[in-house]
Amino acid sequence: MTAQEQSFFNNVIRCFDEAAELTSYPKGLLDQIKSCNSVYRFDFPLRHDDGGVEVIHAWRVEHSHHKLPVKGGIRYSPEVDEDEVKALAALMTFKCAIVDVPFGGAKGAIRIDPRKYSEEQLERITRRYTHELARKNFIGPGLDVPAPDYGTGEREMSWILDTYIALNPGQIDAAACVTGKPVSLGGVHGRKEATGKGLYFALREACSQSEQMKGLGLSSGLEGKRIVVQGLGNVGYHTALFCREGGAVIIAIAEREGAIMNPKGLDVDRVQAHRKETGSILDFPGAVNISHSAAALELDCDVLIPAALELQITKRNASRIHARIVLEAANGPTSPEAGAILGDRGILVIPDIYANAGGVTVSYFEWLKSLAHVRFGRLGKRYEEAMKRQMLWAIEAGTGKQLSDDYRARLIRGAEELDLVNSGLEETMVVAYQQMQDTLHRNPRTKNLRNAAFLNAIEKIADAYQELGIFP
Ligand code: GLU
Repeated sequence: MTAQEQSFFNNVIRCFDEAAELTSYPKGLLDQIKSCNSVYRFDFPLRHDDGGVEVIHAWRVEHSHHKLPVKGGIRYSPEVDEDEVKALAALMTFKCAIVDVPFGGAKGAIRIDPRKYSEEQLERITRRYTHELARKNFIGPGLDVPAPDYGTGEREMSWILDTYIALNPGQIDAAACVTGKPVSLGGVHGRKEATGKGLYFALREACSQSEQMKGLGLSSGLEGKRIVVQGLGNVGYHTALFCREGGAVIIAIAEREGAIMNPKGLDVDRVQAHRKETGSILDFPGAVNISHSAAALELDCDVLIPAALELQITKRNASRIHARIVLEAANGPTSPEAGAILGDRGILVIPDIYANAGGVTVSYFEWLKSLAHVRFGRLGKRYEEAMKRQMLWAIEAGTGKQLSDDYRARLIRGAEELDLVNSGLEETMVVAYQQMQDTLHRNPRTKNLRNAAFLNAIEKIADAYQELGIFP
């Protein structure tokens, strides 16, 4: 990695500046859009069982307040630093704008390796973190709404919710202070798998563009595409699962401990079960081990999905990537230098700020559900079914033909919450892809999808500032 590639925040700003050059907005407005509005860095003590005290370092960065609340996950990682949290918060701002989710961007982090702490310690850390955020008004349904990210999940979101409720007794909308909650605590069906499902929709959309596929030397459609996935966490696992269901073949999976490959295809669920049982993906029946995990990125494949951490494709390895498409599931997996090399080599990069926006999109639906205090579909489902039943009776009476009970039941079925969430997610991902494509065609100076995505985001955020009357 070059020294310049090292600052993740600078990398984001470089992508921003490249797109901003294509606009004629005043410098002051562009400076406001890209600057990080608030950076809250704090430490707190954790007492260990042996009586020793460890100081825990934590952050919450609110990148842009052009829309409220601000939104973004909380990451638990031993490597995290302020530059990374700022970069991730900025990406959230642009991501939300691209998929028309009406939030500003934010991100939080605690510098710990969660695998080295007991559940009880993690609970204490999470509750204390929430307490610190609450003291400074850095959490609340209309202020700042955290969600899961690398190293966190439903369990941590439940602790955050419970702490917030305890600090705000009687606040009727308290459940909207966090998303990614378990469904039993007011979460929404489909949130856990949303980022992966959104990535699948993004790839399906890209693969359906026949001209684009022809240019890459690939056939249209997802069917038979050979995929390599880096990272089998929540995002990587679900992306691989949905792509496989959609007809793609997962030929290799990489994790910390190494990678496995089988050109005939890997059953993602079985790999996951094998990892749970043995503690490693290696030695999976029928697959070949690749001991150096990073080597998997360089395998010959149609689609490479980096779904782990940032800066995995850099100047160092970009010329050795053999995929035709890179689907960025992680945030910031490709440095700007590497992006340019991939572009020169004719590789299509589906950028993170669009591709992994399914998570925050469904977080938005969850937030709406928490504010509405009602499950999606509860009011309309039976009515919809009754109307369809009447229509089928009329058709059957008119034609004299009887449908089978099974077919009738399938036609009548009204939408459940999960159906509505997935429908909203699919619509969001398809429309945003079309918007990027339109921008590429409308503006011949846009270089690639990332450039177009940033340009769309800048235009939408600039509009919001102009509507607020802050800028002419
Ligand atoms: N952490 C996820 C992301 O990076 C989700 C954020 C959210 O749902 O607020 O997009």
